[in-house]
Amino acid sequence: MDIIESDRLKSLPPYLFAEIDKIISKKRQEGIDVISLGIGDPDIPTPDVIVKELYKGALVHENHRYPSSYGMPEFNAAVVDFYRSRFKVDLQSKGVIPLWGSKEGIANIAYTFINPGDYSLVPDPSYLVYKIGTMFAGGKAFEVPLKEDNDFMMDLDSIDKNISKKAKLLYLNYPHNPTSANASLDFFEQVVEFAQKYNIIVCHDNAYSDIYSGSGEKPVSFLNAEGAIEVGVEFNSLSKTFNMTGWRIAFAVGNTEIIKSLGKYKTNVDSGVFNAIQVAAIKALNNYEELVLDNNQIYDRRRNSVKQMLDKIGISYYDSDYTIYVWSKVPPGFTSQSFAKMLLDKADVVVTPGSAFGNSGEGYFRISLTISDDRLEEAIKRIKGVV
Ligand SMILES: *Cc1c(COP(=O)(O)O)cnc(C)c1O
Repeated sequence: MDIIESDRLKSLPPYLFAEIDKIISKKRQEGIDVISLGIGDPDIPTPDVIVKELYKGALVHENHRYPSSYGMPEFNAAVVDFYRSRFKVDLQSKGVIPLWGSKEGIANIAYTFINPGDYSLVPDPSYLVYKIGTMFAGGKAFEVPLKEDNDFMMDLDSIDKNISKKAKLLYLNYPHNPTSANASLDFFEQVVEFAQKYNIIVCHDNAYSDIYSGSGEKPVSFLNAEGAIEVGVEFNSLSKTFNMTGWRIAFAVGNTEIIKSLGKYKTNVDSGVFNAIQVAAIKALNNYEELVLDNNQIYDRRRNSVKQMLDKIGISYYDSDYTIYVWSKVPPGFTSQSFAKMLLDKADVVVTPGSAFGNSGEGYFRISLTISDDRLEEAIKRIKGVV
């Protein structure tokens, strides 16, 4: 029998970093101590109070049955409270839906709204799911370059009007992976105006809403912008905020019609998030202030230490106090990929080449702050030794 993949899978962009991956596993097999700064996954464990709540929730028999795709009322209420307390945003109870991680929602919203041939506008560089979700749904992703001299904000005026007219979705993500740039309310208000003008649904990914420097300004929600609720939704996730990447719990909030349509799609491909996980997530959301504080102290310390060390080496970076990444410039004479390969060859350190996130990531590399302070310092010292 011939096993033939769908055109959808065949259309995936080629994976450029197979060679780097091969070298990593070969080195590790040889017993070489490779330090990875490439991991976008917190090393800090989920707080015990949340884990204990999962255990309690798992013992409740009613929680063993199919959950509702639209969420437990108690979970949705906790999200409403969280948005009111954290962002001063008043959500309607029907404007909330839990997700199996925001990755799922980001991909499924494309299936919910994209017809073959429709465009979505996606940032370049970015998390790849915006583009691939669109392609899987039969649409075309139009990549809009984010430039450092514009603080990596999407320049909406630069987009060809004929493309904007054909666009159905606009994906945004601030604070931004990989650049760590944060957006102002003012920017989001321009986004609302643009979306209204071209009738585009805005999908804002706020996965890093609560990773910020303790002393700095907190990121806003897209829904803080006037009129945002009429044009879009925001994805938010417990993954980074509470170190829960493995739990698969996130949510979408905002426009009730958009949420309802996403739910309609989801009821046909999944059956909701395990109720005991929703119960644990309620505990996290109800105690966010305290839990986020602990986390941000750790990232602050690591971020500051990496910045100081990069300053000493003479590697420049985008100066920001957000996300778990430091977006750094590749030294002259290298591409993103050749620099990453050189670091691996000579220093046994893994970084993510900027070009992994799109063409406009060329010339940069991404350092993740997701390893212990001493390993992080050791890695930067090794980099210093070879540049
Ligand atoms: C980590 C991350 C997410 C979170 O994904 P989950 O599926 O909720 O774990 C979403 N968007 C971006 C840009 C991320 O980096």
